[in-house]
Amino acid sequence: MQKHSSTRFSLPDVNDQTSAPVAAILVAAGSGSRLGHPIPKALVELAGVPIVVRAVEPLLAGGVGHVVVVAPSTHLAEFQGLLEDRPNVTVVEGGAERQDSVRLGLDAIADAEIVLVHDAARPLVPSTVVESVVAALRDGARAVVPVVPVVDSIRRIDGASSVTVDRAELRAVQTPQGFDASLLKTAHTHAAVQGLVVTDDAGVCEAVGEHITFVDGHREAMKITEPFDLAVAEAILAAKE
Ligand code: C5P
Repeated sequence: MQKHSSTRFSLPDVNDQTSAPVAAILVAAGSGSRLGHPIPKALVELAGVPIVVRAVEPLLAGGVGHVVVVAPSTHLAEFQGLLEDRPNVTVVEGGAERQDSVRLGLDAIADAEIVLVHDAARPLVPSTVVESVVAALRDGARAVVPVVPVVDSIRRIDGASSVTVDRAELRAVQTPQGFDASLLKTAHTHAAVQGLVVTDDAGVCEAVGEHITFVDGHREAMKITEPFDLAVAEAILAAKE
């Protein structure tokens, strides 16, 4: 694993106008079905504030200049209404799969040299993680992924037999992942042409032979998927008050 744990990047000066512009795609076009909600997950309230509104904040605080929120076509107006008071946030329509939503978000980004891709489902990512991802890119990395150690014992099960997987070798992958913008566009075009299905954008870049750089993620960048996760996220927020 490269650069993880042992590497510390200097934090960017978010006011440094000479730095390459940073944009982010906030993918928020998923459904709320696993959360048990009839509305899209990103519209569900987390301690009184919609998840998508919370998710925009650490990106802007972490040095992102423009956020493209990718929303479900069925609820575009609601997303636009929630975010209309933020001049540096635009809302575009998403696609059937996450990969499609990222590609549609990329189409809406004009001039950024660095692009972050973040799941709205991780609204509590600390802005320091966003800063670390951006700093690694400014330091020369082209594809950057925040990761955290795996704390559970992990077992691979194959029918009746099973084997323990050494968790010291494993990392849980988070977002925002960050990329050289032209690399990410090329990689997503390649994936679409080849019909590749991948679970994250680092996988898309790996498919075109790109090296992945790792930085420390954070437990608070947990992904909200099920009702339990929402309760944990609310407890995190309550503990900060
Ligand atoms: O479903 P899951 O939580 O794994 O999705 C990860 C992220 O991708 C979520 O923020 C979700 O809104 C987004 N997504 C999307 N378009 C899809 C499916 C998921 O933007 N078609």
